Amino acid sequence: MAKNTQNLSSNARLLKAKASKHAIYGVIIALLAIVFGTVGVAFVQSSTITVDTLVAAQANNMALWVLNAMPFVFAFWGQYVSSLIAFEASAMVVDQTSDLRAQTVALEAEMTRHATHDQLTGLPNRILLKDRLGQGILRAAQSKTRLAVLIMDIDRFKEINEAMGPYNGDRLLKQVATRLQSAAHESETIARLGGDEYAVVIPNLAQPRDVSQVVKRIEKTLEVPFMLEGLKLDVRASMGIAFYPEHGTDADTLMQRADVAMYAAKRNRAGFLVYSPKYDEYSPQRLTLMGELRHAIENNELILHYQPKVDLKTGVIDEVEVLVRWNHPKYDLMYPDEFIPLAERTGLIKPLTMWVLNHALSQCTRWRNEGLTLGVAVNLSAQVLFDLDLPDIIAGALAAHDVASERLILEITETTIMVDKDRALQILSRLSDMGIRIAIDDFGTGYSSLSYLSKMPVDEIKIDKSFVLDMHENKSNAVIVRATIELGHNLGMSVIGEGVEDAGMLAQLRALGCDAAQGYYLTKPLPSDEFTAWLVTTQSQGALKVEAGKVQLKGIPADTA
Ligand code: C2E
Ligand code: MG
Ligand code: MG
Repeated sequence: MAKNTQNLSSNARLLKAKASKHAIYGVIIALLAIVFGTVGVAFVQSSTITVDTLVAAQANNMALWVLNAMPFVFAFWGQYVSSLIAFEASAMVVDQTSDLRAQTVALEAEMTRHATHDQLTGLPNRILLKDRLGQGILRAAQSKTRLAVLIMDIDRFKEINEAMGPYNGDRLLKQVATRLQSAAHESETIARLGGDEYAVVIPNLAQPRDVSQVVKRIEKTLEVPFMLEGLKLDVRASMGIAFYPEHGTDADTLMQRADVAMYAAKRNRAGFLVYSPKYDEYSPQRLTLMGELRHAIENNELILHYQPKVDLKTGVIDEVEVLVRWNHPKYDLMYPDEFIPLAERTGLIKPLTMWVLNHALSQCTRWRNEGLTLGVAVNLSAQVLFDLDLPDIIAGALAAHDVASERLILEITETTIMVDKDRALQILSRLSDMGIRIAIDDFGTGYSSLSYLSKMPVDEIKIDKSFVLDMHENKSNAVIVRATIELGHNLGMSVIGEGVEDAGMLAQLRALGCDAAQGYYLTKPLPSDEFTAWLVTTQSQGALKVEAGKVQLKGIPADTA
C-alpha cells in the first residue's frame, strides 16, 4: 500500500512539473512576441530602430500594452494549473489510500475468518471453539457456574457420502450447520470440528440435567427429514457431553471427554451420553482395535450368532441370518456396529467376510449332518461386493463345504448397491446365476428406490426394523411397511420384516401379507450350540416341530392370523 501511495505522489509531481514547463514556454513565447512586436512597431512608426523609437513604440501602441501583460498571464496560468493538478492528485492519493486501506482491512478480516471459521459451513472451527471454550471456562470459574461441551457426530454419514456423492455430503453438512445455528441460543457457540463432527459450548447451566434441553433442541431440529436430490433423508446423530468443572477444567480435557462420551453414545446407540470414566475405553483404544482385529480374524476370536427367519405362511424356519461378534479378550462381546465400520475402513472387511462365510457354510454342513435343513444368510459390505473375484471365491467356498448354492443368501444394503449400480448389477447377476439368493437388507433406510432395485436380481427385501418396531404407534411406518410388502410382491420379491419383538408385530406383518419375519420374538441371535439347544427346547415345549430336517414353528397360521 505504501508503494502505491508513493507512485501516486511522484505521478502528481511529474504532472505539476509538466504544467510549470508549459507555462514557462508560454512566458518565453510572450516575451519574444513583446520583443518582436516592439521592434516591428518602432520600425513601422519611425523607419529606424533606436532605444528612443523602441520606448516610443512601447509608450504609444496599445496592442503592445496587451502583449506586455501576456507573460504574467502565462505565469499565473501555469501556477494555477499546476496547483490544481497537485490538489486533484493529492485528493486521488487520499481516495486511493482509503480504498486500499479498506481493502487491506477486509483482506485481513477474511484471513482471520479463514483461520477461525470452517470454510464449508461458515461456522467457527476447532481453533475458535477452543478459544471460546477457554474464555467460557474463565467466566464460569469467576462466576462459579457450570458449562457444558457437547460433541455431535452424524450417524452413518460415511454411507450417505458414499451413496450420494461428496457434493451431496457437503450439502448435508451445510444444512445440519444451518439447523444447529438456528436452534442455538445466543450465548451458545456452535462449531464444526471437521468431517461430520460439530460442537456446542453451553454456558451458565444451573444443573447438569439442564443440558438435556439443549439435546432435545438439537434432536428436534434434526427430526425433520433433510432433502437431497429430491430424496428425504432421516438423519440421526450421537452426542457426548462433558461438564466444567466436573469432567475437566481446561478446554482440551473437556473436548476429549465429550468426544469419548460421543463414541460411547454411538456404540450404545444411546443418542446422547454424559461423560463417565467408564467410557474411557471407547476412545484412544479405538485405534489399537484395528491391530487387534487382524489378530482376532487370524486367531478365531470372532464368533458367529444365528438368528432364524420364519415363513409366516407355513411356520417353516429354513434360513438363519449369520451375525458376527468379537469375543475381545479385554472388553466383553463386541457387536458388529463397533468393529465392522473399522474393518471397512482398514481393508480388513475382506478377510473378515471370508472368515464369516467359511464358518457359516461349515455350520450349514454340520446342521445338515444333524438332520437340519437350514440356509445361511451372510451380510456383505460394499468393498466385498465390488470385488470382481467374489463370485469365484464364493463358488470355491460352496464347493469346499459341499453346500448347495440355494442354501446361501447374501444380504446387501440398498446403500451398498447405490455406491456403483452398474458394477452391483454385474456381480449380483453372476451370483444370482449361480443360484445364490440376494436379499436387500435394512430396506427403507437407504436412498434407492424399489423401481431401481427391480432391475437387480433381488429375491428378498428385508424391511428395516425401525419401521417394524413402532408399527403400532407410528401410522406412517405402518403405511411404509404395507406399501413395501405390496411393491415387493408386485416386483416378484419376497418380503421379510426385521425386528419383530412381539406376537402383535408378527400378527400384523402376517395380516399385511409379509412372507417372513425375524426378530427377538422368535429368539435373539444365538451362538450355534445355543441355537441348536433353542430348537430342541422350543420343540420340547411344543412350539416347534422338526420333521425330515424341516424346522416348523407350530401354530403360526392359526394363532397369529
Ligand atoms: P442386520 O444385518 O440388519 O442385522 C440385524 C440386526 O438386528 C442384528 O444386529 C440383530 O441382532 C438385530 N435384531 C434382530 N432382531 C431384532 C429385534 O427384534 N429387535 C431389535 N431391536 N434388533 C434386532 P447386530 O447383530 O448388532 O448386527 C448389526 C449389523 O451389523 C447387521 O445388521 C449387519 O449389517 C452388520 N453385520 C453383522 N454381521 C456382519 C458380517 O458378518 N459382515 C458384515 N459386513 N456386516 C455384518
Ligand atoms: Mg442383515
Ligand atoms: Mg437389517
